Amino acid sequence: MSKVPSISLNNGVAMPQLGFGVWQVPDDEATKAVGLALEAGYRSIDTAAIYENEEGTGRAVAASGIPREELFITTKLWNSEQGYDSTLRAFDASLDRLGLDHIDLYLIHWPVPSKGVYVDTYKAFEKIYADGRARAIGVSNFLPEHLTRLIEETSIVPAANQIELHPQLQQAELRAFHAQHGIKTEAWSPLGQGRGLLEVPTVVAIAQKHERTPAQVVLRWHLQIGNVVIPKSVTPSRIRENIDVFGFELDDEDMSALAVLDEGKRLGPNPATFDYGA
Ligand code: NAD
Repeated sequence: MSKVPSISLNNGVAMPQLGFGVWQVPDDEATKAVGLALEAGYRSIDTAAIYENEEGTGRAVAASGIPREELFITTKLWNSEQGYDSTLRAFDASLDRLGLDHIDLYLIHWPVPSKGVYVDTYKAFEKIYADGRARAIGVSNFLPEHLTRLIEETSIVPAANQIELHPQLQQAELRAFHAQHGIKTEAWSPLGQGRGLLEVPTVVAIAQKHERTPAQVVLRWHLQIGNVVIPKSVTPSRIRENIDVFGFELDDEDMSALAVLDEGKRLGPNPATFDYGA
Protein backbone atom coordinates (compact mmCIF):
# COMPACT_ATOMS: atom_id res chain seq x y z
CA MET A 1 0.00 0.00 0.00
CA SER A 2 1.31 3.47 -0.91
CA LYS A 3 2.40 5.69 1.91
CA VAL A 4 1.26 9.26 1.32
CA PRO A 5 3.70 11.90 2.62
CA SER A 6 2.39 14.77 4.72
CA ILE A 7 3.03 18.46 4.38
CA SER A 8 3.09 20.83 7.32
CA LEU A 9 0.46 23.58 7.45
CA ASN A 10 1.39 27.02 8.82
CA ASN A 11 0.24 26.05 12.32
CA GLY A 12 2.29 22.82 12.33
CA VAL A 13 -0.66 20.50 11.62
CA ALA A 14 0.30 17.67 9.24
CA MET A 15 -1.87 17.17 6.16
CA PRO A 16 -1.53 14.27 3.69
CA GLN A 17 -0.31 15.64 0.36
CA LEU A 18 -2.80 13.46 -1.51
CA GLY A 19 -6.42 12.98 -0.54
CA PHE A 20 -9.73 11.82 -1.97
CA GLY A 21 -12.38 14.23 -3.33
CA VAL A 22 -16.09 13.42 -3.38
CA TRP A 23 -17.72 16.22 -5.41
CA GLN A 24 -20.70 14.93 -7.44
CA VAL A 25 -20.77 11.61 -5.59
CA PRO A 26 -24.30 10.96 -4.25
CA ASP A 27 -24.51 10.35 -0.51
CA ASP A 28 -25.02 6.56 -0.62
CA GLU A 29 -22.29 6.11 -3.25
CA ALA A 30 -19.97 8.27 -1.17
CA THR A 31 -20.07 5.70 1.61
CA LYS A 32 -18.86 3.06 -0.82
CA ALA A 33 -16.28 5.25 -2.58
CA VAL A 34 -14.82 6.66 0.63
CA GLY A 35 -14.72 3.12 2.05
CA LEU A 36 -12.74 1.95 -0.99
CA ALA A 37 -10.43 4.96 -0.73
CA LEU A 38 -9.71 4.30 2.94
CA GLU A 39 -8.98 0.66 2.11
CA ALA A 40 -6.62 1.79 -0.66
CA GLY A 41 -4.67 3.90 1.82
CA TYR A 42 -6.12 7.40 1.49
CA ARG A 43 -6.39 9.12 4.87
CA SER A 44 -7.54 12.57 3.74
CA ILE A 45 -11.08 13.12 2.48
CA ASP A 46 -12.40 16.33 0.91
CA THR A 47 -16.13 16.98 1.13
CA ALA A 48 -18.35 20.07 1.42
CA ALA A 49 -21.79 20.92 2.76
CA ILE A 50 -23.03 21.60 -0.79
CA TYR A 51 -21.92 18.13 -1.99
CA GLU A 52 -24.71 16.69 0.19
CA ASN A 53 -22.56 13.68 1.03
CA GLU A 54 -21.18 14.57 4.46
CA GLU A 55 -23.41 11.87 6.00
CA GLY A 56 -22.27 9.21 3.57
CA THR A 57 -18.66 10.25 4.08
CA GLY A 58 -19.10 10.12 7.85
CA ARG A 59 -20.63 6.65 7.65
CA ALA A 60 -17.60 5.34 5.74
CA VAL A 61 -15.23 6.94 8.24
CA ALA A 62 -17.08 5.36 11.17
CA ALA A 63 -17.25 1.95 9.48
CA SER A 64 -13.54 1.95 8.66
CA GLY A 65 -12.47 1.62 12.27
CA ILE A 66 -9.43 3.79 11.45
CA PRO A 67 -8.43 5.84 14.52
CA ARG A 68 -9.68 9.42 14.14
CA GLU A 69 -6.20 10.88 14.64
CA GLU A 70 -4.99 9.04 11.51
CA LEU A 71 -7.62 10.73 9.36
CA PHE A 72 -7.74 14.21 7.89
CA ILE A 73 -11.26 15.40 7.08
CA THR A 74 -11.94 18.61 5.17
CA THR A 75 -15.35 20.17 4.69
CA LYS A 76 -16.49 23.56 3.42
CA LEU A 77 -18.97 26.27 4.28
CA TRP A 78 -21.50 26.94 1.51
CA ASN A 79 -22.14 30.42 0.09
CA SER A 80 -25.66 30.73 1.53
CA GLU A 81 -24.30 30.35 5.07
CA GLN A 82 -21.67 33.11 4.97
CA GLY A 83 -21.87 35.57 7.87
CA TYR A 84 -20.71 35.22 11.48
CA ASP A 85 -23.67 33.53 13.23
CA SER A 86 -24.81 31.53 10.24
CA THR A 87 -21.28 30.12 9.86
CA LEU A 88 -21.25 28.89 13.45
CA ARG A 89 -24.59 27.16 12.87
CA ALA A 90 -23.50 25.68 9.54
CA PHE A 91 -20.32 24.31 11.10
CA ASP A 92 -22.34 22.53 13.81
CA ALA A 93 -24.60 21.06 11.14
CA SER A 94 -21.62 19.77 9.12
CA LEU A 95 -20.12 18.16 12.23
CA ASP A 96 -23.47 16.50 12.98
CA ARG A 97 -23.82 15.13 9.46
CA LEU A 98 -20.24 13.84 9.49
CA GLY A 99 -20.73 12.35 12.97
CA LEU A 100 -17.48 13.97 14.13
CA ASP A 101 -16.51 16.21 17.03
CA HIS A 102 -13.91 18.14 15.05
CA ILE A 103 -12.82 18.84 11.47
CA ASP A 104 -9.20 18.83 10.37
CA LEU A 105 -9.55 21.61 7.81
CA TYR A 106 -12.57 23.90 7.43
CA LEU A 107 -12.72 26.03 4.28
CA ILE A 108 -14.83 28.96 3.05
CA HIS A 109 -15.99 27.43 -0.24
CA TRP A 110 -16.04 30.64 -2.35
CA PRO A 111 -15.32 34.28 -1.48
CA VAL A 112 -18.62 35.59 -2.99
CA PRO A 113 -17.28 39.17 -3.14
CA SER A 114 -20.75 40.49 -4.08
CA LYS A 115 -22.09 39.37 -0.69
CA GLY A 116 -19.21 41.13 1.05
CA VAL A 117 -19.10 39.06 4.25
CA TYR A 118 -16.15 36.73 3.88
CA VAL A 119 -14.19 38.64 6.54
CA ASP A 120 -17.00 38.17 9.12
CA THR A 121 -17.30 34.57 8.00
CA TYR A 122 -13.59 34.04 8.56
CA LYS A 123 -13.87 35.61 12.04
CA ALA A 124 -16.35 32.84 12.87
CA PHE A 125 -13.78 30.36 11.52
CA GLU A 126 -11.25 31.86 13.93
CA LYS A 127 -13.66 31.21 16.82
CA ILE A 128 -14.18 27.61 15.67
CA TYR A 129 -10.39 27.22 15.53
CA ALA A 130 -9.88 28.83 18.97
CA ASP A 131 -12.48 26.43 20.38
CA GLY A 132 -10.45 23.49 19.05
CA ARG A 133 -13.22 22.31 16.73
CA ALA A 134 -11.19 22.73 13.53
CA ARG A 135 -7.50 21.88 13.63
CA ALA A 136 -6.85 24.27 10.74
CA ILE A 137 -8.91 26.87 8.86
CA GLY A 138 -8.58 28.11 5.32
CA VAL A 139 -10.34 29.15 2.17
CA SER A 140 -11.13 28.00 -1.34
CA ASN A 141 -11.26 29.91 -4.60
CA PHE A 142 -9.84 33.07 -3.02
CA LEU A 143 -7.98 35.52 -5.26
CA PRO A 144 -5.00 37.55 -3.98
CA GLU A 145 -7.23 40.56 -3.22
CA HIS A 146 -9.46 38.41 -0.97
CA LEU A 147 -6.48 36.80 0.76
CA THR A 148 -4.92 40.21 1.32
CA ARG A 149 -8.07 41.46 3.05
CA LEU A 150 -8.12 38.42 5.34
CA ILE A 151 -4.45 38.87 6.20
CA GLU A 152 -4.98 42.56 6.97
CA GLU A 153 -8.29 42.31 8.84
CA THR A 154 -8.08 39.01 10.75
CA SER A 155 -5.42 37.37 12.89
CA ILE A 156 -4.91 33.88 11.41
CA VAL A 157 -3.33 33.46 7.99
CA PRO A 158 -5.38 30.80 6.11
CA ALA A 159 -3.64 27.41 6.23
CA ALA A 160 -4.65 26.59 2.67
CA ASN A 161 -6.38 27.95 -0.41
CA GLN A 162 -8.07 25.21 -2.42
CA ILE A 163 -8.16 26.36 -6.04
CA GLU A 164 -8.75 25.01 -9.51
CA LEU A 165 -5.30 23.92 -10.70
CA HIS A 166 -4.04 21.45 -13.29
CA PRO A 167 -1.46 21.55 -16.09
CA GLN A 168 -3.81 23.60 -18.28
CA LEU A 169 -4.39 26.14 -15.47
CA GLN A 170 -1.13 26.30 -13.55
CA GLN A 171 -1.88 29.37 -11.41
CA ALA A 172 1.77 30.40 -11.10
CA GLU A 173 1.01 33.86 -9.69
CA LEU A 174 -1.40 32.63 -7.06
CA ARG A 175 1.01 29.84 -6.06
CA ALA A 176 3.77 32.40 -5.61
CA PHE A 177 1.45 34.56 -3.48
CA HIS A 178 0.63 31.53 -1.33
CA ALA A 179 4.31 30.64 -0.91
CA GLN A 180 5.09 34.18 0.14
CA HIS A 181 2.40 34.12 2.85
CA GLY A 182 2.71 30.55 4.15
CA ILE A 183 -0.58 29.40 2.59
CA LYS A 184 -0.64 25.85 1.17
CA THR A 185 -1.87 25.43 -2.38
CA GLU A 186 -4.47 22.68 -2.67
CA ALA A 187 -5.48 21.72 -6.22
CA TRP A 188 -9.09 20.99 -7.09
CA SER A 189 -9.94 19.24 -10.34
CA PRO A 190 -6.29 18.15 -10.33
CA LEU A 191 -6.95 15.81 -13.28
CA GLY A 192 -8.81 18.47 -15.20
CA GLN A 193 -11.99 16.51 -14.42
CA GLY A 194 -10.73 13.67 -16.62
CA ARG A 195 -11.63 15.66 -19.71
CA GLY A 196 -9.14 16.45 -22.51
CA LEU A 197 -6.07 16.80 -20.29
CA LEU A 198 -5.46 13.06 -19.97
CA GLU A 199 -5.38 12.70 -23.76
CA VAL A 200 -2.91 15.52 -24.41
CA PRO A 201 -0.03 13.94 -26.41
CA THR A 202 2.67 15.35 -24.08
CA VAL A 203 0.98 13.76 -21.06
CA VAL A 204 0.42 10.47 -22.88
CA ALA A 205 4.06 10.35 -24.05
CA ILE A 206 5.43 10.95 -20.54
CA ALA A 207 3.10 8.25 -19.23
CA GLN A 208 4.41 5.78 -21.81
CA LYS A 209 8.00 6.67 -20.97
CA HIS A 210 7.45 5.86 -17.26
CA GLU A 211 5.03 2.96 -17.90
CA ARG A 212 2.41 4.82 -15.90
CA THR A 213 -1.02 6.24 -16.74
CA PRO A 214 -1.70 9.86 -17.80
CA ALA A 215 -3.57 10.43 -14.51
CA GLN A 216 -0.54 9.26 -12.53
CA VAL A 217 1.74 11.60 -14.50
CA VAL A 218 -0.52 14.57 -13.80
CA LEU A 219 -0.74 13.73 -10.09
CA ARG A 220 3.08 13.40 -9.93
CA TRP A 221 3.40 16.84 -11.54
CA HIS A 222 1.22 18.31 -8.77
CA LEU A 223 3.16 16.58 -6.01
CA GLN A 224 6.51 17.66 -7.44
CA ILE A 225 5.51 21.34 -7.59
CA GLY A 226 4.37 21.11 -3.97
CA ASN A 227 0.58 21.03 -4.33
CA VAL A 228 -1.82 19.13 -2.14
CA VAL A 229 -4.09 17.09 -4.48
CA ILE A 230 -7.52 15.55 -4.04
CA PRO A 231 -8.38 13.49 -7.15
CA LYS A 232 -11.86 12.03 -7.35
CA SER A 233 -13.04 8.72 -8.75
CA VAL A 234 -15.74 6.20 -7.93
CA THR A 235 -14.08 3.47 -10.01
CA PRO A 236 -12.20 1.04 -7.71
CA SER A 237 -9.22 0.56 -10.06
CA ARG A 238 -8.83 4.32 -10.56
CA ILE A 239 -9.12 5.00 -6.83
CA ARG A 240 -6.13 2.67 -6.38
CA GLU A 241 -4.30 4.01 -9.43
CA ASN A 242 -4.55 7.62 -8.22
CA ILE A 243 -2.80 6.90 -4.92
CA ASP A 244 -0.12 4.71 -6.52
CA VAL A 245 2.05 7.68 -7.45
CA PHE A 246 4.92 7.47 -4.98
CA GLY A 247 7.09 4.91 -6.77
CA PHE A 248 8.32 7.04 -9.66
CA GLU A 249 9.48 10.57 -10.38
CA LEU A 250 9.19 12.94 -13.32
CA ASP A 251 12.54 14.31 -14.50
CA ASP A 252 13.37 17.91 -15.44
CA GLU A 253 12.59 17.25 -19.09
CA ASP A 254 9.10 15.94 -18.19
CA MET A 255 8.44 18.88 -15.89
CA SER A 256 9.50 21.38 -18.56
CA ALA A 257 7.29 19.69 -21.16
CA LEU A 258 4.29 19.87 -18.77
CA ALA A 259 5.04 23.50 -17.84
CA VAL A 260 4.19 24.66 -21.36
CA LEU A 261 0.71 23.11 -21.32
CA ASP A 262 -0.64 26.08 -19.35
CA GLU A 263 -3.51 27.73 -21.21
CA GLY A 264 -4.95 29.67 -18.29
CA LYS A 265 -8.11 27.69 -19.03
CA ARG A 266 -10.69 27.40 -16.25
CA LEU A 267 -13.13 24.48 -16.20
CA GLY A 268 -14.98 25.97 -13.25
CA PRO A 269 -16.43 29.39 -12.48
CA ASN A 270 -14.55 32.67 -12.02
CA PRO A 271 -14.11 33.31 -8.26
CA ALA A 272 -14.37 37.08 -8.77
CA THR A 273 -18.03 36.81 -9.77
CA PHE A 274 -19.31 33.37 -8.70
CA ASP A 275 -22.19 33.81 -6.25
CA TYR A 276 -24.28 30.68 -6.81
CA GLY A 277 -26.60 29.97 -3.90
CA ALA A 278 -25.51 33.05 -1.98
P1 NAD B 1 -10.71 15.55 -10.94
O1 NAD B 1 -9.76 16.40 -11.68
O2 NAD B 1 -10.28 14.86 -9.69
O3 NAD B 1 -11.29 14.51 -11.98
C1 NAD B 1 -12.21 13.52 -11.62
C2 NAD B 1 -12.69 12.80 -12.85
O4 NAD B 1 -11.58 12.36 -13.63
C3 NAD B 1 -13.46 11.53 -12.50
O5 NAD B 1 -14.81 11.80 -12.34
C4 NAD B 1 -13.18 10.63 -13.69
O6 NAD B 1 -14.05 10.95 -14.75
C5 NAD B 1 -11.79 11.03 -14.09
N1 NAD B 1 -10.73 10.18 -13.50
C6 NAD B 1 -10.39 10.04 -12.18
N2 NAD B 1 -9.34 9.23 -12.05
C7 NAD B 1 -8.99 8.82 -13.30
C8 NAD B 1 -7.99 7.99 -13.80
N3 NAD B 1 -7.12 7.39 -12.99
N4 NAD B 1 -7.92 7.80 -15.15
C9 NAD B 1 -8.79 8.41 -15.99
N5 NAD B 1 -9.77 9.23 -15.56
C10 NAD B 1 -9.87 9.45 -14.23
O7 NAD B 1 -12.01 16.48 -10.71
P2 NAD B 1 -12.94 16.95 -9.54
O8 NAD B 1 -13.77 15.88 -8.97
O9 NAD B 1 -13.60 18.17 -10.07
O10 NAD B 1 -11.91 17.48 -8.42
C11 NAD B 1 -11.44 16.67 -7.37
C12 NAD B 1 -12.00 17.14 -6.05
O11 NAD B 1 -11.71 18.52 -5.84
C13 NAD B 1 -13.53 17.10 -5.96
O12 NAD B 1 -14.03 15.80 -5.81
C14 NAD B 1 -13.76 17.99 -4.78
O13 NAD B 1 -13.48 17.30 -3.57
C15 NAD B 1 -12.75 19.08 -5.03
N6 NAD B 1 -13.33 20.25 -5.72
C16 NAD B 1 -13.41 21.42 -5.05
C17 NAD B 1 -13.94 22.53 -5.65
C18 NAD B 1 -13.99 23.82 -4.90
O14 NAD B 1 -14.66 24.76 -5.34
N7 NAD B 1 -13.33 23.91 -3.77
C19 NAD B 1 -14.43 22.47 -6.96
C20 NAD B 1 -14.33 21.25 -7.66
C21 NAD B 1 -13.78 20.16 -7.03
